[in-house]
Amino acid sequence: MTVLADLLDAVSSDRIQVLDLTAPLTSQTPVLVLPEPFAQTNTFQLEEISRYDDRGPAWYWNNISTGEHTGTHFDAPNHWITGKDLDDVSQVPVKRLVAPAAVIDVTEQTAADPDFVLEVEHIEAWEREHGALPEGGWLMLRTGWDARSHSQEEFLNADENGPHTPGVSVNCARWLADKAPVIGLGVETVGTDAGGAHSFDPAFPCHAFLLGAGKYGLTQLQNLAQLPPTGAVIITAPLPIVGGSGSPTRVLALVER
Ligand code: MN
Repeated sequence: MTVLADLLDAVSSDRIQVLDLTAPLTSQTPVLVLPEPFAQTNTFQLEEISRYDDRGPAWYWNNISTGEHTGTHFDAPNHWITGKDLDDVSQVPVKRLVAPAAVIDVTEQTAADPDFVLEVEHIEAWEREHGALPEGGWLMLRTGWDARSHSQEEFLNADENGPHTPGVSVNCARWLADKAPVIGLGVETVGTDAGGAHSFDPAFPCHAFLLGAGKYGLTQLQNLAQLPPTGAVIITAPLPIVGGSGSPTRVLALVER
């Protein structure tokens, strides 16, 4: 049997399960909100063109409008000033969009402290148990935050001091960018950086370091709880928006049972 025939047989017989890590896209899908005076991204919107009516008797279709960074989405290197001369989302090599995942579960820490940040020591402890992070793969940060994705308010979890959502420390972001073999960081939150990362030094270190190193971000993922710590294969499909800084994306995981 060829590898692909074996893969199809494994999928149809459920030896390999296909999981959807993508949040449904609706006008209610949470989006990032920046403080004044910064410009805001759009929510996802459908605008009906026709629906089996005099505008088009046999067909239904919509125009869509959305931010590039709305819902489950891909951050390309040129999203950040540190990566401004690097790949746009259409230039990301497609080979990198099929990649292994390491899943680190910090749901307990996050439940106790929504401002929890991942440190290099947490990854080193994970590596002692599960082995090295995968070359060319994703580090997926499982925080339990996907349970809040039905509500913009719960998802952003903001008070007068700004949002309180988990993320990655400055040191850890630098390590992921410069030392770790991964191509990117996947998270369940609205962005790869912690809610409090506006006041880190530097601010938004995952964006600054990872995108500046030509690596990627994946956000608003769901169902990471169903992934094993190692062994899942992630298929990511951002739209090839020419010149774009990112794209809403379907993210699938193949998991061997
Ligand atoms: Mn983004």
